Amino acid sequence: MTTQKFIITTGTIIKVRNKLLNDGYINALVFEDIVQLLHSCPVNNNPCIWTENEDGAYVTTCGNTYEIINGTPRENHMNFCPYCGKRLRVKEND
Ligand SMILES: [Zn+2]
Repeated sequence: MTTQKFIITTGTIIKVRNKLLNDGYINALVFEDIVQLLHSCPVNNNPCIWTENEDGAYVTTCGNTYEIINGTPRENHMNFCPYCGKRLRVKEND
């Protein structure tokens, strides 16, 4: 079985809640049930691994290449991959 996996932020939940309630689709109790269901769903916590190549750019496990002019992803406060949205982890070179 394939499960759709995604990360829901608090901001997204509030946006959806306001839309559904304001437009009269559901009431607050129904929304609370939906939130409980979402919390019980599996979340993909696998990080996107960034590996530095010989040019100093980073190749991502989601199939992209990203070049940082100054510093590392960590030094630039990049905690999430801008392409796939997963948590970003830099592969340590041995
Ligand atoms: Zn990625």
